Amino acid sequence: NPRRTPLIAGNWKMNLDHLQAIAFVQKLAWSLKDARHDFTAVEVAVFPPFTDLRSVQTLVAADKLPLAFGAQDLSEHESGAYTGEISGAFLAQLECQYVIIGHSERRTLHAETDEQVAAKVVAALTHNLVPIICVGETAADLELHGPSAVPVAQLRAALAGVTRAADIVVAYEPVWAIGSGQAATPEQAEQVAAALRVVLNETLGQDVADKTRILYGGSVKAVNIAGFMREPNVDGALVGGASLDINEFSGIVRFQK
Ligand code: PEP
Repeated sequence: NPRRTPLIAGNWKMNLDHLQAIAFVQKLAWSLKDARHDFTAVEVAVFPPFTDLRSVQTLVAADKLPLAFGAQDLSEHESGAYTGEISGAFLAQLECQYVIIGHSERRTLHAETDEQVAAKVVAALTHNLVPIICVGETAADLELHGPSAVPVAQLRAALAGVTRAADIVVAYEPVWAIGSGQAATPEQAEQVAAALRVVLNETLGQDVADKTRILYGGSVKAVNIAGFMREPNVDGALVGGASLDINEFSGIVRFQK
């Protein structure tokens, strides 16, 4: 779709300290430059740990790197007595463009609820951060409810507090495909992405549905990215493990349909 620039997003999870992050981003920028990567055709973003963000911000600004970045989570609160939490205001101040919200590891390991995800989406939008809203079913959900029911319900819930046309990204990440080496098929990803686009249309209208990027995530690698990108409703990828390997990640960015 000409209205949607593909987005390749690398979620580093709890990997790379701020010194390693600087070295990594420099190498990544070189690798993409070498390949004459067309940054107007594909947007690339990295999601380092919070403690790396200031370093990444400084490096991206100093070298004018065509690289977006963001955080892996944020607090639903603005400020105050929330020990260990990070405000969207702080992320905006560090020039983060994006923030990942509701990753399955947050939902399962930190018991994040749909209500919290919805509150975090509102918090992100308040600070003009583009939320990357993660949804996806477990293997048990898939067996019990079929492919789209849980992701569709999670997206509806996540958008509960969004009332105006908002700049958002949706990431469909089947939990069974994350870090398992067993990616969904492009057809499976397309089926759910199409259902998620219907939700966007019903909740935020045709215009938002047309321009919102829906990413696939779950064991994406350089060898399987092209299949996903050929699908009409898949507009990019959220990449975990393979985003920590320069060759793999730049291979994904350079996908050929
Ligand atoms: C993720 O955690 O967002 C993810 C997609 O992980 P991986 O690429 O390692 O499956």
